[in-house]
Amino acid sequence: MVRDFSGETAVVGLIGYPVAHSLSPVMHNRAFAQLEMNWVYVPFPVRPEDLEAAVKGLRALSLRGVNVTVPHKTAIVPFLDRLTPAAAAIGAVNTVINQDGYLVGDNTDAIGFVRSLREEADFDPAGSRAVILGAGGAARAIAVGLAESRAARIAIANRTRERARELAELAARLGPETTALALDSPELEEELAAADVLVQTTPLGMAGAGEAHLPVNENWLHPPLLVCDIVYTPLYTPLLAAAARRGCRIVPGWGMLLYQGVEAFERWTGRPPPIAVMRRALLDALQMSQGSEEA
Ligand code: NAP
Repeated sequence: MVRDFSGETAVVGLIGYPVAHSLSPVMHNRAFAQLEMNWVYVPFPVRPEDLEAAVKGLRALSLRGVNVTVPHKTAIVPFLDRLTPAAAAIGAVNTVINQDGYLVGDNTDAIGFVRSLREEADFDPAGSRAVILGAGGAARAIAVGLAESRAARIAIANRTRERARELAELAARLGPETTALALDSPELEEELAAADVLVQTTPLGMAGAGEAHLPVNENWLHPPLLVCDIVYTPLYTPLLAAAARRGCRIVPGWGMLLYQGVEAFERWTGRPPPIAVMRRALLDALQMSQGSEEA
């Protein structure tokens, strides 16, 4: 699709390294086209040593904002003017909003994840019991999102138990009861038996990374448990397939990806995006990059 730009075209984008495989450009540009907005989303590969210059550049060039991805999500913090409470709690920024040269660092992963549960599965985390597998960057955003949405209990199970404990302590400061487990702990079965939602955030199940292994025993999955796997390559992970076989409802990894983008779009433009158009663009791009799997 060729579009005409003008002196009034508003520019947003993505900074990361690498950025070539990002699905955000197609999602946002389709939304801008659908709304006939004179905006464009451009990916910018920024090496770690050039991050400070890139942030000065986005101010100098009057970009309206950027998404931030690996490896800059934490490193960018000192170069911004202010963090939102969500970004401060998570300790990472995935969205920068340029307010006339004043750069606000936000994080839409947490609210985007929670919104994917609400919109795609009609699930409200308030009062719920959650189990999170993994304690890395994505798990941190998800734990903060669930805690701020008033989840009652969050159990974090991670290969390295110490990291689970650190994340459990962080989430506990936001309100819920929390516990930390090792990923292979027998107590995980009990936590799952009482849980309302399971969120898988490790790379287990990702194409080319331990796809033969399920992160939990399939027999531990019982309805009405809602099972989310934030891995989106493949679209339908072995865990999601097992959960569906066991009669559980599922939310695939594209849900979080879609709604973090929806939230960023709203912050930059002040307008609600056409979510169905963004979802279709994302799923088309994912299916094209992954062959002919079912969406
Ligand atoms: P990260 O910060 O590197 O954390 C990785 C986590 O997975 C850690 O808890 C790590 O445990 C665990 N892990 C790694 N290899 C493992 C293995 N072989 N067995 C068991 N546990 C293992 O990564 P991240 O940024 O959180 O991303 C994690 C995954 O989520 C990636 O696949 C990424 O593509 C996906 N993701 C999806 C979205 C979305 O929008 N859907 C957003 C962000 C990330 P240790 O602490 O023991 O090392």
